[in-house]
Amino acid sequence: MIRTTCPYCGVGCGIVATPNGRGGAGLAGDPEHPANRGRLCSKGAALDETLGLGDRLLHPEIDGRRVSWETALDTVASGLRETIARHGPEAVALYVSGQLLTEDYYAANKLTKGFLGTANIDTNSRLCMASSVAGHKRAFGSDTVPETPPGWISALSRRLDPNRDPATLWRRTILQSRAAMARDEETLLPS
Ligand code: SF4
Repeated sequence: MIRTTCPYCGVGCGIVATPNGRGGAGLAGDPEHPANRGRLCSKGAALDETLGLGDRLLHPEIDGRRVSWETALDTVASGLRETIARHGPEAVALYVSGQLLTEDYYAANKLTKGFLGTANIDTNSRLCMASSVAGHKRAFGSDTVPETPPGWISALSRRLDPNRDPATLWRRTILQSRAAMARDEETLLPS
């Protein structure tokens, strides 16, 4: 049994992994972890499906057939060239990963703005964090995430209204359930 952490979002839920000896593992929320107390959201609960290589795209493919990188790149380039020739550069948009390095973002922006001739590029970084930053500002007056889950959850339970701040809590379903529990517990405390 291995205690580890879900890699997906900043909640950092604890996971207990039990390797099955065939490259996979059974996964469950760690009941002793302070961030999630054994809970996992749908993404964390499906982590075991990502452990194998069977369903991963490991090589370039066109129409389901493996091709060389040269063929794949030529196909993409000619598709972009034809689209721009027919409809103009504004017909092209790039939506790139939030996991790139700064130099990668520079190269992607250079390609889009300098060579394709459009400003239509955005990244998952902005969409991923926009609702969180808005929620943190509203809850804590700053977009700095508090250090400890108990303080965070207590503050969330008091300051965030799920009806007014659905985006933040929707993206942090584990925090949402912890905040709801904290709110219930505080409601039950004698005043
Ligand atoms: S809330 Fe979900 S995605 Fe985020 S760390 Fe926990 S299990 Fe993973």
